[in-house]
Amino acid sequence: MSVKLEGHAVAPGVAIGRVHLAESNELEIGEFRIGREDVGKEVRRYRNAVEAARKQLLELADRIGPAVAAPAADIIQSHVLMLADSKIGKNTEEHIRNELCNAEWALQSQLEQILSEFRSMDDEYIRTRGEDVTQVVRLIQSKLGEEAASQPFENIPDRLADTLVVASELTPGELAILHERGVAGIVTEHGGPNSHTAILASSLGIPAVLGVRGARSLLEEDSTLILDGGRGLLIADPGQKTLQRYHELRLESERFKRSLESLRQRRAVSLDGHEISLQANAERRDELLQSVTAGADGIGLYRTEFLYLQGAPPDEETQLSEYLSALELLDGKPLIIRTLDLGADKSTDALDFSQLRRSANPALGLRAIRLCLRDTGLFKTQLRAVLRASASGRVRCLIPMITSVQEIKLVKELLGEARAQLDERGQQYDPELPLGGMIEVPAAALAIDELARELDFISVGTNDLLQYALAADRGDEQVAHLYDLQHPGIVRLLRYILREAGQFGIPATICGEAAGDTRYTRLLLALGLRQFSMHPARLLEVKQIIRETRIDRATEAAKRWLQDPSAAKESSLLELLDQSQESSGS
Ligand code: PEP
Ligand code: MG
Repeated sequence: MSVKLEGHAVAPGVAIGRVHLAESNELEIGEFRIGREDVGKEVRRYRNAVEAARKQLLELADRIGPAVAAPAADIIQSHVLMLADSKIGKNTEEHIRNELCNAEWALQSQLEQILSEFRSMDDEYIRTRGEDVTQVVRLIQSKLGEEAASQPFENIPDRLADTLVVASELTPGELAILHERGVAGIVTEHGGPNSHTAILASSLGIPAVLGVRGARSLLEEDSTLILDGGRGLLIADPGQKTLQRYHELRLESERFKRSLESLRQRRAVSLDGHEISLQANAERRDELLQSVTAGADGIGLYRTEFLYLQGAPPDEETQLSEYLSALELLDGKPLIIRTLDLGADKSTDALDFSQLRRSANPALGLRAIRLCLRDTGLFKTQLRAVLRASASGRVRCLIPMITSVQEIKLVKELLGEARAQLDERGQQYDPELPLGGMIEVPAAALAIDELARELDFISVGTNDLLQYALAADRGDEQVAHLYDLQHPGIVRLLRYILREAGQFGIPATICGEAAGDTRYTRLLLALGLRQFSMHPARLLEVKQIIRETRIDRATEAAKRWLQDPSAAKESSLLELLDQSQESSGS
């Protein structure tokens, strides 16, 4: 009998093949004491393991080659960097010295501490960075245990065509090896949609479904499995009809992939001639490279929180060097740097958030720009780094969670002070650095005319705007059904923001997840959006929809729906927009 399982849809495409259950590569970590005289030896053993892990990753990055897998090599490179200077390294050695325990255990203790910090953050992206740390730690532990990690997947056949590997979890390095062996698709029991393994699978074009609880016990070795990466669906032991349908879908999805590739160099122009700007949300090197490869018009959202999660708050030079390397990769394309958006439960050891934890409603508390206006020293350090970067490329500065005009005025005063400090030091900056605000607070959206007078551009953060406008926590599964972009109130709010921004002549982008969700592309175009910023992996599919849309027709359909949303009983707004494209007269 056929069995259906669901997980995270992270890398589209259909794969059909035989199941191979990968050995669980989780390690049993035991604790034992060492004598004081053995501390030096244990620290050396730890360092050797790190070095062996580093070598293995570098060899892998070399082997997978630059052409198809630049992002892949880069993800591995980011793990190499994590090995070199993460907090884990320093603390593990200290733990060995202070607790007189074995390196494996010291490493495990550090991992648990870091993971509990990551888990307490409400930003899904940051939270899933914990998976990268786990993967790096696992690799070092396997080296420490002299496991067969230099030849992972020993038991897996060399050729994996028509094989779907089902594992507990996979590191990017392991995934790269499976890719070399021609794996048809991958399934893991753990791993989120924003993990590096997910990004890597998508950039290597490997259909993947992650986070399928219990997959290894529910699926049988050698059984037939259909993996529908676009839907996050697995069908084990399918019937003949289903199998036939998926064989056809697979052919179709391969054709679709080839057609997307051909879009890289093409412009995003709608059927009725509107040119759309497609930018990317990216911060790490792999994402920046992926954005360039996908042909993004620039980086519409460069989140900077990651800089603050690595220990002490980053100094001006550290930030500047990150911004400059992003600019170098972008090679003349604009970089919109968003200032620090921490606060509430996105706390870190680096900052003293003791006051904030007492807040009953952290999402409504002292976060983002509110926090930066409280700790102006921290904020001005970032403003100086952003200003200095603006001397070397097309930089714009974006402020998160703006609520009032007063806040923008305060930001401008601080920018003035930061400029004066740079003048004193004789350092260069762009005196015209454009200043933008994120529209995430409903009251700010409704006062857009006031804000527009003070800003050079706006960027709508739909992730937060929806949570505040619908009173539905963006991370709470229990109210996920209320978190709906098609709610008439949200549709009206977005149309209002985009219309008013147009009237005041300031550019408006949407940089929340909705911008990269192809279900909403036509709706956003119909509401007047002409600038999208999204994860680079989504860019070509969004471009494809734009190139197949007549915006005038979609606009008409949206207008009719907005006059009386309940009139369209049979069809949803999104269906009406699709139907509008089929009407005659093109
Ligand atoms: C948003 O809120 O839509 C946004 C892009 O910001 P973040 O997801 O970082 O809060
Ligand atoms: Mg936000």
